[in-house]
Amino acid sequence: MEGIRDPREQLLDLEPYDAKGVAADVMLSSNEHPFNVPAEIIARLSDRLESFDFNRYPDPTARKLRELIAQANGLDATEVLVGNGGDELIFNILLAWGGLGRKLLDLPPTFAMYGIDAHVTGTEVVQIPRKDDFFVDGDAVLERLGQGDIDIVMISHPNNPTGSLTPETLLIDILNATDALVLVDEAYFEFSRHTMRPHMQRHPNLVILRTFSKAFSLAGLRVGYLLGHEDVIREIMKVRQPYSVSAFSQWVAATVFRERVVFQQGIRELIRNRDRLLHGLSNMRGIEVFPSEGNFVLFRVEHASALWRDLLHSHSVLIRDFGRAPGLEDCLRVTVGSEAECSKFLEAMSDVLSARRESRIMTGAAARATDERA
Ligand SMILES: *Cc1c(COP(=O)(O)O)cnc(C)c1O
Repeated sequence: MEGIRDPREQLLDLEPYDAKGVAADVMLSSNEHPFNVPAEIIARLSDRLESFDFNRYPDPTARKLRELIAQANGLDATEVLVGNGGDELIFNILLAWGGLGRKLLDLPPTFAMYGIDAHVTGTEVVQIPRKDDFFVDGDAVLERLGQGDIDIVMISHPNNPTGSLTPETLLIDILNATDALVLVDEAYFEFSRHTMRPHMQRHPNLVILRTFSKAFSLAGLRVGYLLGHEDVIREIMKVRQPYSVSAFSQWVAATVFRERVVFQQGIRELIRNRDRLLHGLSNMRGIEVFPSEGNFVLFRVEHASALWRDLLHSHSVLIRDFGRAPGLEDCLRVTVGSEAECSKFLEAMSDVLSARRESRIMTGAAARATDERA
């Protein structure tokens, strides 16, 4: 027989995810940490690498890592779940609480994986767009939740890619308004320093997502975790792949977590660099900058995609172009890098912008010259 029968209908209008990983000297497109894991931690790991049991399956419950995370958050290990990156946990939540006939409330523009995973799992996506300043439309959300048919709410806090936190009072109103599972995605918690953790006791439907990918230099390892009520964690454990978090990842993440104070200085430095980027961009003519509590800054500029290309091709600076995302027309996002990277980015920006102004003056002059001749 020839040919291949069609896959599930839901896949027809999806594209495989491609982060457009072009190489550049200054990589500021994926909200990664600019530096590798500190040398002292790598040294400790290398010492023990020889005796690592690569031949054994990992502990499916990631007991050691869960216990460390639970302890740090004043929880029991049964209230923690470790995943292959936060992304896997988002997918697992949709497998457990979404699916055919069920609904996700999505607040775009926001992290694209919520919508993509909903689509893949057959979950209906109900969207309530954010307001022009990218804050959540609280009235609309509360009114929609009042209809009682939403199964999951996902809120990126702070919101990637726009940068701001949702006011805690609104998050509490949302939790009071619904028995849907409410995921507060704290992927940037270490930079925003705001958490909904204190509200877990009162709201068993609250789950919190964190990751080792951003503040802890482990994006390549793929480790994230959920904090939630033990009944919720138990349900999500039913749908997860038992061995999705490798033994190696568990080991490295546990080592990094134990030594996490070592990262504090780097985090403070990134917060300072973020403020430098916010300040530097807001001083540039023609740029609208949005406040950020993450390790990234979103800004709007005319002909953003052309500017994105100029930064890459003339200055080897790679940032993220959101120009084609609904609600983010002409928006670019730059990750907060090292001090040197931030300087290179800001210099590249003012170069590109002044080249633009010059060419505009020249085209203006050329146009006037033509006018005069006419
Ligand atoms: C980066 C990110 C995650 C998770 O990233 P992982 O690398 O999969 O842990 C989750 N949510 C948001 C909003 C993010 O930006």
